[in-house]
Amino acid sequence: MRTPGIRCPACRWKPGAGARWTCVPRCGTVWNTFATGGVCPGCGVRWHRTQCLACGAVSPHRDWYRDPGGEDARDATRERDLALHD
Ligand SMILES: [Zn+2]
Ligand SMILES: [Zn+2]
Repeated sequence: MRTPGIRCPACRWKPGAGARWTCVPRCGTVWNTFATGGVCPGCGVRWHRTQCLACGAVSPHRDWYRDPGGEDARDATRERDLALHD
């Protein structure tokens, strides 16, 4: 899986397919938050902020995406289709 156009707004680190975040202090699920658009597959909570695994800065999840114009469509098209791919 690739994460094109996604990078840390603070340090420009690009999370690879092996990058993992943990849903704390909620359910403790470990997953790639960019594979689900910031939604925890364990409890369904949506994380609006994402911490960089490289520099530790916490930034709004949408700021990690570099595609202009996707701002409005993002929320409208969000669905709870959380089939696990890996
Ligand atoms: Zn960073
Ligand atoms: Zn969770």
